[in-house]
Amino acid sequence: KVRVRFAPSPTGPLHLGGVRTALYDYLFAKNQGGEFVLRIEDTDTARYVEGAEEYIEEALEWCGIIPDESPKKGGKFAPYRQSERRDIYDRYTEQILKTDYAYIAFDTAEELDAIRAEYEAKGDVFSYDNKTRNRLRNSLALSEEEVQKLLDEKTPYVVRFKMPVDRTLGLVDIIRGNSAVNTDTLDDKVLVKNDGMPTYHFANIIDDHEMEISHVIRGEEWLPSLGLHTLLYEAMGWEAPQFAHLSLILKPEGKGKLSKRDGDKFGFPVFPLNFTDPATGNVSKGYRESGYLPEAFINMVALLGWSPADDKEILSLDEMAKEFDLNKVHKAGARFSKEKAEWFNHQYIQKTSDEDLMNILKNSDLNLNIDDEKLLKIIHLMKERATFPKDIYENGKFFFEAPTSYDEKASKKAWNDETSNLLTEFSVTLSGVEAFTSENIKQNLHDFAEGKGLGMGKVMMPLRLALVGELKGPDVPDILELIGKEESIARISNAVN
Ligand code: GLU
Repeated sequence: KVRVRFAPSPTGPLHLGGVRTALYDYLFAKNQGGEFVLRIEDTDTARYVEGAEEYIEEALEWCGIIPDESPKKGGKFAPYRQSERRDIYDRYTEQILKTDYAYIAFDTAEELDAIRAEYEAKGDVFSYDNKTRNRLRNSLALSEEEVQKLLDEKTPYVVRFKMPVDRTLGLVDIIRGNSAVNTDTLDDKVLVKNDGMPTYHFANIIDDHEMEISHVIRGEEWLPSLGLHTLLYEAMGWEAPQFAHLSLILKPEGKGKLSKRDGDKFGFPVFPLNFTDPATGNVSKGYRESGYLPEAFINMVALLGWSPADDKEILSLDEMAKEFDLNKVHKAGARFSKEKAEWFNHQYIQKTSDEDLMNILKNSDLNLNIDDEKLLKIIHLMKERATFPKDIYENGKFFFEAPTSYDEKASKKAWNDETSNLLTEFSVTLSGVEAFTSENIKQNLHDFAEGKGLGMGKVMMPLRLALVGELKGPDVPDILELIGKEESIARISNAVN
């Protein structure tokens, strides 16, 4: 049975990379008819950020990445929050201490600092490993009596992994293929801290085993831990899951990891939702609040590092799940593009119904004092050019309010000595139009221009300027119909005076 987990630490808001990991976890699980689990890895209390867990849950929900099991939803392997699983870890701490893969160490932080300084003075780097462990204060270096004495005195200790000497480990990664690492390059990581809580490495493999996780799909920053994790499974006598490490999401320039600073620099969010840092009160911008549709957002994220078989670009979550293939996930990093993100949103706006767009606009903080029927027509006319829902309002502001100024360049082009008379005359024509529809208006415009011996443009251009304030927007008859007879005549009169 395929079971995949997303295991974020609540140390801050989820970023783009985190969303992509969760999405690939989810897509792979669904593709395989398996289950997707959300587990919160909160054993590092020092890095815990208030509200981060709620943020992660809300962000996944907005994206439509819904876990089958989670802290909120529960499930047969509950609890799904590591801070609530202490008794399970305690049992396995006892177990690993009985093997030759772990030992206890009494070194205080001050002692370790002193040794580190000693090494640095010689131009070396200290590492707690198989070359140094015999000189330190641990159960491998001390006699049994000394250890017992320290334990009796309630001396605080940590549990460390005893990295085997000179072993070459074969590592298998679905995306990256095979590699090898020699254990002499790895150190004796702390597995259990002196408060009895396991570190990430130990809790992570215990939970992956306990929760029957079959595939670990995670960011490449965890690749250096794969050797240790492989040995931890060996130490516990457990079968390891399969691993797939995802490459970085790169800066728009292509080099280096995408960061929050890039977002600030190029004007795009790197988080799914707005996040208010509880420590500083600073708000990081989110895709949701920036006007992205969740379907567009996850479609964009999914294609950062994966290409569907026929290079299709627009896919729903279900379509992606049907097609997802870990073997088609790219080994190279994926460059983020703000333009591409906007392109996706534009595409999805076209796919969204006028009614749904109306609801989005009405639920925003825009001041739309207009009836639904007209609003729907405006949306219909303007969505073609919109990247974000609010563009419909911003590019169509003239539908909601009269222009307060007229673009200078456009005025030079569209206005001459006769224009005022021409438009005043045309507004008389307009006032005589009974059914004020774009059809009828068009006919009248046509007849009016013909009667004057003028091309349509000669009337249309200054008219557009009078109504809009610039030479942009949809067809003039459509604009006239939507702003209505009275308002149209008022705007013309304003412009000519
Ligand atoms: N808690 C780790 C993180 O925050 C999980 C890494 C993993 O998936 O093993 O990224």
